[in-house]
Amino acid sequence: MKRFLLLFLFAPLLAFAQSTPEKIKEYQLQQEQYRKTQLLREIDSGKYYMEMGEYALADKKLKYALDNIKSVPSDLTYFFGKNSYFLGKFKQSVDWLTKYVQLKGTSGQYYEDAVIVLQKAENALIASRKTDTSQLAEVLSRNYEIDCGPTGKVICPVCKGNTVIIKTGIFGNNYKSCTFCDKHGMLTCEEYNKLIRGELAEH
Ligand SMILES: [Zn+2]
Repeated sequence: MKRFLLLFLFAPLLAFAQSTPEKIKEYQLQQEQYRKTQLLREIDSGKYYMEMGEYALADKKLKYALDNIKSVPSDLTYFFGKNSYFLGKFKQSVDWLTKYVQLKGTSGQYYEDAVIVLQKAENALIASRKTDTSQLAEVLSRNYEIDCGPTGKVICPVCKGNTVIIKTGIFGNNYKSCTFCDKHGMLTCEEYNKLIRGELAEH
């Protein structure tokens, strides 16, 4: 009797659900959109706290976005990389700022600042390696899926899009075709993410 009652109660619901798969899909899309908006808000407040000099708080916000977003947008690689510099996590800073520069190139909104902070982080990293042997726990980009933007393409960081790798030797320069990218010096986003993880096979 009880089971029958349950069936009776849920049958209309089930029928409704089955008859409108578009509605469910729409609902899921809305939920996903809502989640994304929330995460973009976290990134914004992370940026805000960084500008206010509240680096630990900024780190918390940005790290939350990193861990919950499906694929990491380029702006987040910049904010997280810059904030990492202020936190004294130089390896982490170099890692993420390098990703930003690779993803956006000179056309990036934050390109100039990214290059400046990247340089500072690299110098600090070298200096800290000389004096400090302790290792901070680093959050590195290879553990995340990077969003390459609407084109879905990235200039090959190995050959800088030249498709040729030049090695200077004693007997002159040695030219070798880049074995990672296509003939235009580009990588797909999937290939780029593999390259970061050291999983991209040469061809
Ligand atoms: Zn290449």
